[in-house]
Amino acid sequence: SADMAMYLAKENGKNNFQFYNAELHEIINRRVYIESELSKAIEKDQLELYYQPKVDLYTKEITGMEALLRWKHPKLGFISPQEFIPLAEETGNIVAIGEWVLKTACKQNKHWQEKGFDPLCISINVSARQFEHSDFINAVSKALDETGLSPQYLELEITESIIQNVSESKEVLNRLRSIGVKLSIDDFGTGYSSLYVLRELPIDVIKIDKSFIDNLTDSKNLSMIKTIIDLGLNLNLHVLAEGIEHEYQVKKLVEQGCSSGQGYQFSRPVSEKDFEALLLQSSIYTIE
Ligand code: C2E
Ligand code: MG
Ligand code: MG
Ligand code: MG
Repeated sequence: SADMAMYLAKENGKNNFQFYNAELHEIINRRVYIESELSKAIEKDQLELYYQPKVDLYTKEITGMEALLRWKHPKLGFISPQEFIPLAEETGNIVAIGEWVLKTACKQNKHWQEKGFDPLCISINVSARQFEHSDFINAVSKALDETGLSPQYLELEITESIIQNVSESKEVLNRLRSIGVKLSIDDFGTGYSSLYVLRELPIDVIKIDKSFIDNLTDSKNLSMIKTIIDLGLNLNLHVLAEGIEHEYQVKKLVEQGCSSGQGYQFSRPVSEKDFEALLLQSSIYTIE
């Protein structure tokens, strides 16, 4: 980051500006450029949502989808959300981008329902700054009102790390819940307070982080997964495994009682058109 660069410059330098080597300069340039371009991404129509199916691990049918943001820049090409979301958080742009995601996802889901597909729940990712913003609850209500999507078909994914203040978060989450939307904990198990979060917050779904799913042959890891699944089920939560890439993982998860999953084994996140094709293939969906 720029702060880090200045810090390094001071640590290293008699002269702060001498340390600005080419590589560092390039990193900072890219970052500054991305930040300024990102503020125009919505109006320039460069953002798009991709959709990844959530599937029933027993029947392999599509039971829902996660909306994932994609940014195609005319000069830089495809930029990963892993790179631009943190920058959007810093500049505050995430609030406008988050509202765009909310609205677009609700609109798309409503559109699929109107086309005659069985109604599914769509989830979107919510980041810290967006969640903390005083207008967030309003933005959710507004997106539902404007698109006519019924709240039960919207799920908000939050991570443990965005919950800085549990009592404040609890209030916001309770209000969201009273609107009727679903709430899930994303990347579950990677934070420092997973159990605390589960006990204190009104959550409907646990999404077990991919890092646990990656290594299902390790007995220690398998014990942990089994415990997470049991814990979720005992708390009457829906449990979904993220990042499933192989059939043996599906078998193992089913053996442990986990009935939902998501991952490249079923489908990568795909464009609206391609997702519609997946819906048409999925045996339970019939257009009237
Ligand atoms: P996430 O919400 O945990 O999403 C899962 C990420 O893992 C996605 O990466 C997805 O494409 C990828 N993935 C899914 N299945 C597999 C698999 O089987 N193997 C592997 N290797 N990867 C898999 P993506 O789309 O690059 O998004 C990365 C992260 O960026 C997301 O993690 C989420 O935290 C954030 N993000 C994406 N879209 C949004 C958004 O609209 N708003 C906010 N605030 N954050 C977003
Ligand atoms: Mg997610
Ligand atoms: Mg995740
Ligand atoms: Mg993640």
